[in-house]
This record gives sequence, C-alpha cells and structure tokens, in this order.
Amino acid sequence: MKANNRIVLVAVATALVSTAIPRGSGQTAPPAGHAQPPQSVRLYVFDCGTLHIADTGRFGLKPEEVTTSDLSVPCFLVAHPKGTLFWDTGAVPDSAWKPTGAAITYHVVLPDSQERDVIMVKPLKAQLAEAGYSPSDITYLALSHYHYDHTANANAFPAATWLVRQEERDAMFAEKPPGVTQPSTYASLRNNKTVILKSDDYDVFGDGTVVIKSAPGHTPGHQVLYVKLVKTGGILLSGDLYHYPEERRLNRVPTFEFNQEQTRASREAIDTFLRKTDAQLWIQHDFKANARLKKAPDYYE
Ligand SMILES: [Zn+2]
Repeated sequence: MKANNRIVLVAVATALVSTAIPRGSGQTAPPAGHAQPPQSVRLYVFDCGTLHIADTGRFGLKPEEVTTSDLSVPCFLVAHPKGTLFWDTGAVPDSAWKPTGAAITYHVVLPDSQERDVIMVKPLKAQLAEAGYSPSDITYLALSHYHYDHTANANAFPAATWLVRQEERDAMFAEKPPGVTQPSTYASLRNNKTVILKSDDYDVFGDGTVVIKSAPGHTPGHQVLYVKLVKTGGILLSGDLYHYPEERRLNRVPTFEFNQEQTRASREAIDTFLRKTDAQLWIQHDFKANARLKKAPDYYE
C-alpha cells in the first residue's frame, strides 16, 4: 500500500458532545455471530459518524440556504430471511480510532490532500455486535458509491459477496483513483467474491423486498437501495443522490458530480419510482432526518 493512501487521523478534541449526537455507552458489546435469520425483513441503522462541512458551496448551496451544514453518516444492515446485506460502511475505519465513550472529532486527510472533520462516537463493529451480528454474518456488501465517507470499513467484510457495477469498480481500482476516495479502506474488496450488477434493478434476494437500483451521476456506478418492509412500508436509501434536503427542495446539484446531467436524470427516475411505490426517501446524509431515526440495536420491520 502506498504511503499516501494511508488514512491520517488525529483526535483533536474529546469534548465536542452535542445534544444531537448520542453518547457511546463505553460498555463491552455482547458476543455476536451466527445470528438467526428473522421471519421478515429488518432494517438496522448505525451511527457511522457526523461530517462537519466547511463549504456548502460544493453542494450548490449558500450557507444561509441550509438549516445545518452538518451531514450524518449512517451505515445500514438489511436482515432478510435468506441472508444479510450491509449498505455503506462509514467515514472512519474502526481500526483507526479508539472509543472513549464520548464523541471524538477526527481529522481525515484524503490522498488528494482534501481534509474533513468527522465526529465519531462508537465503532461500527461494536454496534453490529449489539444488534447480534458479526462481519462474518454478512452475506452481501454493497456501497452506494466509492467516496471515502461510504467505504471506511469495507475491508471488514472479506467473506461477503460484493455487489457493484463495473464502471464503479473500474474507477475504484484505476491507476489514478478518483477524488474524495480513500483507496486503502476498500483495497481488500479486490479479493471479495464479486457480482457485477448489469441491470438497472438488482433484486438481491429474489422476492422484490431488497432491490439495488442504478442511479449514476454522483459517481459512474452510483446506486440506491429500495427496502420493502412489512410494517414500515417501502424505504429508499438515497446514497448521495442528495446530501442536504435543500438540494432536493431547491433543485441544486453538487459541483463535484461525475456527471451532473446523469444526476438530474437519476433524480427524475427515482422520483418516478417513489411516486409509483409510495416509498419514503431517506436522504442518508440529512442530519436532522437521520437524528430522528431509530438506531441499532432497534430496527425497522
Ligand atoms: Zn457521502
């Protein structure tokens, strides 16, 4: 691994606890692994950090146009009677930090010298264990896309089958990886069993309840996830089709898209899908909406 691919993390503060950020318990997680499959589909939401964004202009938004510039970084587990799917893996690898029980701000320096502050409370694996799962219980791994704030713990799932589009995988392992990536965090995916998704919709378990939908533009192979739950109904996990809810309301497209026209077309196609299915759109990075969601070990069903 080249040295410039290493994640550089510096704990800069331990007192940055806000009321919106749940405190870690600091307790030892119960033993996990060999989770029993549920009777019906469950969706778990994990806290994989909070991003402090200094410049909302990159998202086509003036500072006064957003209610908060913070972005939530959730990770998700879908537990299906026939297996499990993990969706997005956070911004800071578990291996790179030690929990203190309080929120800690980490300074992430990307290989292209871009820098970000991420507030972390609890490692992903500890949260997964509290929900009764270990990484070896994960059947499938899918990332909405290759940006660093979605790939951090991708290497933690070597036994999972990776579901990815060819153009996304090609970019991730290109000689010169795209910007806003942290290639060291997903390097071992090269060795995972991999299924290349070719159709617009990929029905993960074959019964229409968990469907990965192509939504390119933010990155070449960007995708979103539809989950149909018995009690909650349909939920569409946005990936980064939007970051701030204001992007949707004000019809703004970030400046750093792989292809802005593709993003607009994907947004239109997903809007049509949402109307047709009456599914809720969960904008993953929407800080206020995410704060209201039940977090693991609780779940939606
Ligand atoms: Zn993101």
